[in-house]
Amino acid sequence: MQEPTHILTGVIIQKSFEGVKNRKLAFGLTAVAAFLSHGFLDKLANLTYHPPKPDFHSPVWVGYHSFIAAATVVFAVLWWKRFKWGIIFACLPDVDWIFIHGREIVNWLFQVHVDFYAHPYLHMADGYIWEHVPPLSIVAHLLDRLPSLRQDPLACAFEFLLIAVLLLVLKLITMGQRPRNTIAS
Ligand SMILES: [Zn+2]
Repeated sequence: MQEPTHILTGVIIQKSFEGVKNRKLAFGLTAVAAFLSHGFLDKLANLTYHPPKPDFHSPVWVGYHSFIAAATVVFAVLWWKRFKWGIIFACLPDVDWIFIHGREIVNWLFQVHVDFYAHPYLHMADGYIWEHVPPLSIVAHLLDRLPSLRQDPLACAFEFLLIAVLLLVLKLITMGQRPRNTIAS
C-alpha cells in the first residue's frame, strides 16, 4: 500500500496501546503490530493501483503519486511527534526501496554493478511471518487469492476508501479515549 495508509495504520496501532500501563510493553506491542501491519496491507495492495514500475510518461501515474507524496508529508507532519514509534515500524519495510532504488541510481550514475541489498529483505521477513505463522498464515493465504488490479488506475479508489475508513477508526478511538466530562458541583 501507499505510505499514507501505512502511516495512519501505525498511528492507530500506537494509539490502541496507549492504555497499556507498562510503557516498554506498549512500545514492544506497537513495534510488532505495526511491523506486521505492513505485510498485511501490502497483501491488500493487489486491490489498488500499484504498477510494479514507475511510469513517468503517464499523467495518471504522476498525478496520483504526486498526491500520495503530498499526503505522506501532511500525515507525517500531523502525527510524527506523538506517534513516531508506530509510524516508524509501520513504514520500516519500505526502507528496502531506499536501498534498492539507491543502489540502482548509483549503478546508473557511475556505470558500476554494485550488488548490495539485492532483495527487499524486510518485506521478505514480514512476508515470511505472514506466510508461515498461524493464524496469520490463514489470513495471508486468503488474501493471496485476491484479484490483481495493480494496473487499473480506477483501483486507486480502494486506497482512498481504506484511508477514509482508517481516519474514521482513528476518530472513533480518539472519541472513546477522551475522558468523560465531570459534572461540576
Ligand atoms: Zn511495502
